[in-house]
Amino acid sequence: MGPDVTVLGAGIAGLACAIACAQRGRSVEVIEQAPRLTEVGAGLQIAPNGWRVLQALGVMPRSRESRAVHLIDGPTGRSVIRMPLGPSFHLMHRADLIEALAARATELGVVLHLGKRVTAIRDEGRSVIFAGGGECAARRLIGADGARGASRGFVAPDHRGTFTGQVAWRAIVPVQDWPDEAQVHMGPGRHLVCYPLRDGRSLNIVAVEERAAWVDAGWSHQDDPDHLRAAFAGFAPSVRDLLARVTAVNLWGLMDHGATPDWHRGICTLIGDAAHPTLPFLAQGANLGLEDAFTLAGSLDDGAGWQGSRRPRVTRALAAAAGNARNYHLSGLRRVVGQGALRTLGRVAPTAPLRAFGWLYDHDVTAAS
Ligand SMILES: Cc1cc2nc3c(=O)[nH]c(=O)nc-3n(C[C@H](O)[C@H](O)[C@H](O)COP(=O)(O)OP(=O)(O)OC[C@H]3O[C@@H](n4cnc5c(N)ncnc54)[C@H](O)[C@@H]3O)c2cc1C
Repeated sequence: MGPDVTVLGAGIAGLACAIACAQRGRSVEVIEQAPRLTEVGAGLQIAPNGWRVLQALGVMPRSRESRAVHLIDGPTGRSVIRMPLGPSFHLMHRADLIEALAARATELGVVLHLGKRVTAIRDEGRSVIFAGGGECAARRLIGADGARGASRGFVAPDHRGTFTGQVAWRAIVPVQDWPDEAQVHMGPGRHLVCYPLRDGRSLNIVAVEERAAWVDAGWSHQDDPDHLRAAFAGFAPSVRDLLARVTAVNLWGLMDHGATPDWHRGICTLIGDAAHPTLPFLAQGANLGLEDAFTLAGSLDDGAGWQGSRRPRVTRALAAAAGNARNYHLSGLRRVVGQGALRTLGRVAPTAPLRAFGWLYDHDVTAAS
């Protein structure tokens, strides 16, 4: 017999789920297509709801605490509102999180099979087929292989995302003495988010622009930094100075998949982006994946019931992320009115806008375990 649990994908959700299952005494294997565990060079914001899961898993990645979210008018550089954050909002490099998760998984005896790409899943999840031949038998299968993995195609073969009309660039640039806050520079049809990483000498940038068309939904499309600079040429000098330092940049087409209609088939259950690829406007994709991982480990033999209890919360988070994109990109009178209201709020109750997300950040999936 193989291990109790087979996890497809050694991303954030897959490794977290492997750890959570191992903590519950299960034998676990993880199958990953990449020959080495590396991550795209980019940052990640982990909110209290995801941080609590990392703590429960005994995973402590290198990170910086984030003190605030600062909304800034892009074209003028004027502050709109600086919203202080409570504890447990963390900024980290994705590679640091993957490294910490992999180390903890290994410590708990999880077996990692690298360089094995899954091409098909058969027999209601009991049989996993590899590129170049070979297969393995699974007793419980967890599909954590992301939005373009094999398990999503197995559980929901007809579900396709649609292009949102937005693309995102990601880059890291050198800085000095950057405040421990996430800044969101907003302008008509575009916005740019930046925050410091590691020792505070590098700044993670995610810049989003509305566009009519996109053909490549992949995560590793290289772009010319001049395209990024041109898209934000109308922003204030503070942003243009940052973008002048960009030497390499990746570009993504942002697809809206909604939550995949089914997260469970046979013995296979989807988690993370495989179940619900999440737009980045609320910085919650990885956080929700961590929650999925932890909760599913406690309901391993009831994937259908688990998805029923998880779906309302995930659906609400997906809708909130889509709403943020609209608010960041306002133009004309709506921008003037919207920013005016936020400035007033910033003077009297700067924590109020984020308190409205208490349902998201205060939720503790580890409390009942
Ligand atoms: C621009 C941008 C910014 C973001 N910022 C944030 C943020 O600040 N905070 C946040 O919480 N989220 C953020 N997200 C979302 C977050 O990155 C994702 O939700 C998260 O990485 C999903 O993790 P996952 O483990 O589910 O999937 P993935 O990270 O996609 O991992 C899937 C794994 O499966 C492997 N795999 C795939 N196919 C196969 C196969 N056929 N066989 C074997 N292995 C396979 C892959 O190699 C990979 O290792 C952002 C996303 C974007 C696009």
